Amino acid sequence: MKLVSPTAETIDQAAQELTQGALVAFPSETVYGLGADATNGQAIARLYAAKNRPAVNPLIVHLGNRAEAEKTCSFDDTAKRLGEAFWPGALTLVAPLMDSAIVSAVTANLPTLAVRVPAHPVAQDLLKAVHCPIAAPSANRSGRPSATEAQHVADDFAESEFAPALILDAGASEHGLESTIVLCLPDKAPTLLRYGAISRPELEEVLGAPLAALPEATEATEAIAIEATEAVAVESRPLSPGRHFRHYAPAIPVRLLRQGESPRVERSEAWLGFGSTEPIGTPLAAETLSPSGNPQQAAHNLFAALRRLEVSGATAIVVAPLPVSAEALRERVSRAAAIGPVEAL
Ligand code: AMP
Ligand code: MG
Repeated sequence: MKLVSPTAETIDQAAQELTQGALVAFPSETVYGLGADATNGQAIARLYAAKNRPAVNPLIVHLGNRAEAEKTCSFDDTAKRLGEAFWPGALTLVAPLMDSAIVSAVTANLPTLAVRVPAHPVAQDLLKAVHCPIAAPSANRSGRPSATEAQHVADDFAESEFAPALILDAGASEHGLESTIVLCLPDKAPTLLRYGAISRPELEEVLGAPLAALPEATEATEAIAIEATEAVAVESRPLSPGRHFRHYAPAIPVRLLRQGESPRVERSEAWLGFGSTEPIGTPLAAETLSPSGNPQQAAHNLFAALRRLEVSGATAIVVAPLPVSAEALRERVSRAAAIGPVEAL
């Protein structure tokens, strides 16, 4: 595992590694991705093994431009409109898969595929150099906080026999949150599958209509996902398999305070602030996601802060209340806290 700065030479090297079936970690504007050739079954198997990712949790495929995305999936008018408005960028679209070269493990046997055209110049250069679609989930071990710095990738895969051959280090990820995912199926209203770097109001402005939102996953949908081993009609499968697994969680418990709840912290706990809320008590460690209460800044800092605080010696991380409008940020923290649906906050 080599951490290198992206140059024409190292990007070419990364492209060669991918072509030979190896894994490569690369920066994107959302978080770091752990990439593999989406047309190579062995590479994809290695990717799932490296992350210890459940086989029922499908991957997002990264493509260099919109034209390629429209050849890979069948886009309806809505998908085309969203692609035009937000690509290259932090939007993932799920649509019926057309390209038979994509191996079935990528979609967890679903008839649909998640695709994104990333904007980061290094991701773009890598896609140009490699000539294959790159399947790339976040470059962390499954369940851990996402990797927003190259060092996070190195830390998570330090002991792994499937560690990426190369990590292209372009500094901290701009957004610090994963892409927003929208499902676009023919004759169905577009559905928001995952909150992310692009906000719901931004999407709704382009669509001119409210987006349907996916109901939170339950244990029942998890059971269905685990049993689903072969392709069946989209309608009878969970719409977004994988969302119900443990996600974004550091090694110590996380507690997100509700609006109005007392910000009391024990001496053994760490404090993760937002805006003007001050902790009551003397935490063992303290950081602020955004002193001015800016959700974008908080998202940018979130995963790195969780990773620092998990090794601070604290027994738990107490997070200041987050504004209701910061849907993606609240969803990530509440999943890290594993306290259930965001609506319950
Ligand atoms: P990540 O873990 O960031 O790579 O996100 C991948 C997520 O995208 C999965 O956990 C699913 O929720 C969603 N996803 C990927 N492919 C599909 C698909 N074909 N249908 C529905 N959701 C998908
Ligand atoms: Mg992830």
